Amino acid sequence: MSASYLKNVASLVFVQEECVGCGMCYEVCPHGVFVLLEGKARIALPDNCMECGACAVNCPVGAIAVQAGVGCLTAIVNSLLRGRKANGR
Ligand code: SF4
Ligand code: SF4
Repeated sequence: MSASYLKNVASLVFVQEECVGCGMCYEVCPHGVFVLLEGKARIALPDNCMECGACAVNCPVGAIAVQAGVGCLTAIVNSLLRGRKANGR
């Protein structure tokens, strides 16, 4: 059984139209927030999200965004995005 954190405050954002159903978010989430149904991920337990950022980092199509803690993951993602832009020049 997994713990619930504060209700309705997680910064998790999921754009289902972008999802290709790879299952990575389901695999990596330590709190069972995602389920896979009919080839797409869905958020089943949003209040279980502790904003670790693992799902967003592992989603191959960028369908998930989460403000992970304050800072460290955001910094990593931002630096990756900057790197992508730099490579695209
Ligand atoms: S941020 Fe972490 S806890 Fe929240 S849904 Fe993603 S993997 Fe699960
Ligand atoms: S990791 Fe991304 S593409 Fe894969 S199932 Fe989850 S939301 Fe969909």
